[in-house]
Amino acid sequence: MPAETSHDASRWDRSFFGHPLGLSTLFFTEMWERFSYYGMRALLILFMVATVEHGGLGFPTSRAGAVYGMYTALAYLATLPGGWIADRISGQRRAVLWGGILISLGEYCLAYPSLTTFYLGLAIIIVGTGLLKPNVSTMVGALYTPEDKRRDSGFSIFYVGINLGAWLSPIVCGYLGENYDWHYGFLAAGVGMTIGVIQYVFGSRYLGKAGLTSVGTPADAALFRRVLTISVAAILVTAGLALSGVLNVSAEGLSNVFGVSLGLVVIVFFGWLLTSKDYRGVERRRLWAIFVLFIAAALFWSAFEQAGSTLNLFAERNTNLHQWDSPIWGLFRASYYQSFNSAFMIFGLAGFFAWLWIRMGRYEPSSTAKFSIGLLFVGLGFAILIPVASSTNVSPWWLTLTYLLHTIGELCLSPVGLSAMTKLAPARAMGMIMGVWFLASSVGNFIGGRLASVYESFPLPSLFGLVAAFCILVSVVLLFLIKPMKKLSEGVN
Ligand code: GLN
Repeated sequence: MPAETSHDASRWDRSFFGHPLGLSTLFFTEMWERFSYYGMRALLILFMVATVEHGGLGFPTSRAGAVYGMYTALAYLATLPGGWIADRISGQRRAVLWGGILISLGEYCLAYPSLTTFYLGLAIIIVGTGLLKPNVSTMVGALYTPEDKRRDSGFSIFYVGINLGAWLSPIVCGYLGENYDWHYGFLAAGVGMTIGVIQYVFGSRYLGKAGLTSVGTPADAALFRRVLTISVAAILVTAGLALSGVLNVSAEGLSNVFGVSLGLVVIVFFGWLLTSKDYRGVERRRLWAIFVLFIAAALFWSAFEQAGSTLNLFAERNTNLHQWDSPIWGLFRASYYQSFNSAFMIFGLAGFFAWLWIRMGRYEPSSTAKFSIGLLFVGLGFAILIPVASSTNVSPWWLTLTYLLHTIGELCLSPVGLSAMTKLAPARAMGMIMGVWFLASSVGNFIGGRLASVYESFPLPSLFGLVAAFCILVSVVLLFLIKPMKKLSEGVN
């Protein structure tokens, strides 16, 4: 059977835009996963703060921001154990399958109207995302031999899949959720992931041998079982105590504890990485470069990922959405804004930047310089909102401009960072450094979510002003670091 599979895989080697047909399977799996993730996320904070009469949970914004920040941060954090499990225990192929099934189940839980299924659903989606997201990307890499020149362009096609899903879903889930019932929106997110899973099962035969093997030892399996048992027991005991009222845990309190723990994880991890005797000389200097890019990326995502939190609330509460009502789509809804970023990206900016960097040739900026531009643009996106932030009748064009600036920033930082990580990481620590990249998203999502908690208690112009000032300040600091970073990264940056 394996011989036949690899024979078939070579027969399909150029069937998907000149790429292996397996890329199509992974493209659509990730498209549907992101459809599910962003469709649900577009509704999440709006659903939590909506009053009970409007079908929402009636949470105060402080609690909604805490839950949102913790959920999105955990979804990215879970990719670290998710990658490890696939490497050592299950192989990527099965991890992605289980991830997709769990995400669908989690969304179906959310579609059932009760507070318990709401939290349960979020928890299941976190685990599912951790299993699916990092491993589907690893499998993309596994479709190509190390010499295959098509690898980078394969990843670019894959990024289009991410954004196609992220573009369509806020419109579909937002339309159903905000016009009919929040839970229909969550249901649509679940149906999307289910289609993705079915497509993945049928398309698996085009994947050749990608993701079939794992490198773990029996000791790894034993460690996994032990950690899994302890974690499940701890979660069940805490949930039981909380539900029975013995333990008084608030989402805000839990989120504070989580934030401190996340900070400690970052400090301990980098403390170890940067002093470890395993990495010396060039490798250690490059790890310092990775550390600088990590800090910048975490800050960038803290601003950028407010798309689903503060900016989503800004669309709903401060923007005059009626200006864009239409007989075709009816009322223009806040959640529709969540698709602007991906729309700008797929219908123009991604192609433009790919062209621009090639066009600039040897004048192409270094990764550090591009990070600096990325932070500048995300900061500018917030800066332009400062003058209008205290109004409740803001023209919808302002947020549109913000998302345009944010997308430009994202394209200067996100693909650049991913590629810089692969170039700077010591080869034997590649998986771990990919995890570092997701850790930056996790920290960013947490801060971006927590900032929504102060939406009502802190004057908005000051909130946006602070975010803008921080980003622009770090952007300037990075300009001064361009030269030292070139030295640290020794030629690859
Ligand atoms: N938009 C990209 C994705 O969903 C990157 C998001 C991030 O890393 N924070 O995969």
